Amino acid sequence: MMVAEALPHNLPDSLSDKDHPLNRPEFDSFRTRLRQQADLSKSNWFRVGGPAQWLFRPEHSNDLAAFLALLPKDVPVTVLGVGSNLIVRDGGLDGVVIRLGRGFTQITTQGMHVTAGAAALSLNVALVACEKGITKLEFLSGIPGTIGGAVFMNAGAYNAETSQVLMEAEIVERSGRVRRLSHAEIGFSYRHSSMPEGSIVTQAVFMGGSGDRYEISKRIQEISASREASQPIRSRTGGSTFKNPAGHKAWELIDRAGCRGLTIGGAQVSEKHCNFLINTGDATAKDLELLGEEVRRRVKDTSGIELEWEIKRVGKV
Ligand SMILES: Cc1cc2nc3c(=O)[nH]c(=O)nc-3n(C[C@H](O)[C@H](O)[C@H](O)COP(=O)(O)OP(=O)(O)OC[C@H]3O[C@@H](n4cnc5c(N)ncnc54)[C@H](O)[C@@H]3O)c2cc1C
Repeated sequence: MMVAEALPHNLPDSLSDKDHPLNRPEFDSFRTRLRQQADLSKSNWFRVGGPAQWLFRPEHSNDLAAFLALLPKDVPVTVLGVGSNLIVRDGGLDGVVIRLGRGFTQITTQGMHVTAGAAALSLNVALVACEKGITKLEFLSGIPGTIGGAVFMNAGAYNAETSQVLMEAEIVERSGRVRRLSHAEIGFSYRHSSMPEGSIVTQAVFMGGSGDRYEISKRIQEISASREASQPIRSRTGGSTFKNPAGHKAWELIDRAGCRGLTIGGAQVSEKHCNFLINTGDATAKDLELLGEEVRRRVKDTSGIELEWEIKRVGKV
């Protein structure tokens, strides 16, 4: 069975940790925010995956920009939010994994504009908007990731998506250049954005509308109740596994292919919502990925449709 996409992040074998560029003195000023061989399995929803060769937690955009400008171009960089749409593979990630620190969690409002750091949780942005009587952001309360993840994935739910409310975003490019991108420059499509390759979203500005706080709060409660009833939100999961193919619902195709409840190792297709995979306790990333590929194979056999992964898979098998 085919396991996965090409492995994007292998450093040349010759580059041992001792010789790694991050051990050079020019990185000493970043040392307090850098960790080597950092466990990633505790910081993603599936609770699987190997370590990051290096983990960097910048405190603000300039910190991140200075670090990237100094980092040799051949060192791979992977940015993670809270890993709610992600499988970190068992072999971990070479190069540098970036998780934005506390300095990126601020949320402020001005009129109907909401400005959020990319590490702010989407739920918190919805709650702040509610408190200020700003509507149209309620859908974000149902998406358990960060704002950076929501912009990158064009996350959406309940007939709304990030692209409909985002005005602009601040990004740091792989070169270390800080830029502001307009909505048009981000190039949104279904669960996808087309920012310059390797960009890291650091801040987003949303435009809401004037609303009634009671009504907004009621809508957020409805979303919460609806998710509780239909999604395995208390399980170790990764959200929708596959994108909905045009004119179809992925979960219906999966159900029709007889995959509801299907298991490989510790990985299972959720009984509650069969476009969700769950780690029942001791799943490896490999179990989850093999199960996803098996679902794709069975759906192709029964419906002729090729499901496309929505969940991002990163690292080495
Ligand atoms: C129970 C559950 C329910 C969910 N329901 C929904 C739903 O209704 N709708 C929906 O759209 N999604 C849903 N998801 C998926 C997920 O929550 C969203 O895609 C979310 O926006 C991902 O954010 P994250 O911080 O977890 O990103 P991660 O999972 O950590 O990363 C996802 C991708 O975004 C990239 N990324 C993360 N941060 C940044 C950044 N700052 N800059 C650039 N790239 C970045 C990563 O490199 C990766 O490619 C659900 C997930 C779960 C577990």
